Amino acid sequence: MIGIMGGTFDPIHYGHLRIAEETAELFGLDEVHFIPAKQPALKLSPRASSEQRADWVQLAIKDNPHFHFNHCEMLRDGKSYTIDTLRALRQEKVDQSIVFIMGVDAFNQFEYWKNWQEILTLCHIVVCDRPHSLLKKPNWSQPLWQKTPQDVLAKESGYLYLLAATPIPISSTLIRKKVANQQSIRYLVPDSVAEEISQQQIYLPRKRS
Ligand code: NAP
Repeated sequence: MIGIMGGTFDPIHYGHLRIAEETAELFGLDEVHFIPAKQPALKLSPRASSEQRADWVQLAIKDNPHFHFNHCEMLRDGKSYTIDTLRALRQEKVDQSIVFIMGVDAFNQFEYWKNWQEILTLCHIVVCDRPHSLLKKPNWSQPLWQKTPQDVLAKESGYLYLLAATPIPISSTLIRKKVANQQSIRYLVPDSVAEEISQQQIYLPRKRS
């Protein structure tokens, strides 16, 4: 049984790591694949390059034996659509449950994702509650919400589960703002990531020409 933690990760922070950890623990996941989106489908261009974001993800997860870096979206050109990632993964993991981990804001936009109905035939979705975000449950979703992880795992895909994750009000936007204001980001991201961000002088205010 595997988890997918997809993200723009601009940059990765402890909020991301914590929801992956809590989902893995609750569902007994063997592995969680961290998959940085090379070209996010619904967001403006990230500030950091795809290579930088991917490097930071690898640094952030390197000490957790259950977390794996998956570069499949880095290898594809064009927008990073989750449907393409899941179709490819399904070919490898034919009989396994796949759990896609996301926050409330991502779920609230889910109907705008490419082939979103097909996505639900390929995986379950764990929606992690996060501070200051209000979950909307559209009508189509009502019969899909399950009350326990055991209920979710009764089949390989197609269910939804709301995880009351430990509230961690960190966002990538907050990190970028702090760096731009020359404030510390220590204890918001892993030290190794903070050091790279500092060395690469990324997220600093853009100079006027
Ligand atoms: P992101 O900003 O890096 O965030 C990754 C996930 O972590 C999001 O679901 C986010 O929830 C959650 N998160 C961040 N901080 C959190 C915190 N403090 N507490 C709890 N949860 C937290 O990545 P993203 O741009 O939203 O993308 C997420 C995934 O969705 C990626 O795999 C992307 O490719 C995919 N996606 C696909 C399509 C498509 O195929 N058309 C469209 C959009 C996104 P929130 O959503 O609540 O911020």
